[in-house]
Amino acid sequence: MKKCTNTDLVLCSQCGEQLQADAFYYSKKRGRDRYCKQCRRKRSRKNYAAQAAENYERPRHYQVITEIADPVLRHALIKNALRIVAESCERKRKRLIDLEAV
Ligand SMILES: [Zn+2]
Repeated sequence: MKKCTNTDLVLCSQCGEQLQADAFYYSKKRGRDRYCKQCRRKRSRKNYAAQAAENYERPRHYQVITEIADPVLRHALIKNALRIVAESCERKRKRLIDLEAV
């Protein structure tokens, strides 16, 4: 097999341009990317935006406290969440004090 050098031109599967090898990302695991860096960047941005939009629209299987309409229930849940976080912080603080004492 011919060893690839930086002077070899490589065809991008997206834009169809022949570019220098250093215009392509390379990973030890996957080898040279089939798209040039410019096309890879565009594809990645597009895919990220599409995935983010899909995740935003997907129904959640959990409640989001700030989206609860009933103010009394929302307030109770926020207070409960704050209590749980405070308890967790206190447990961590005690654990750190115990570690320092050893
Ligand atoms: Zn390209």
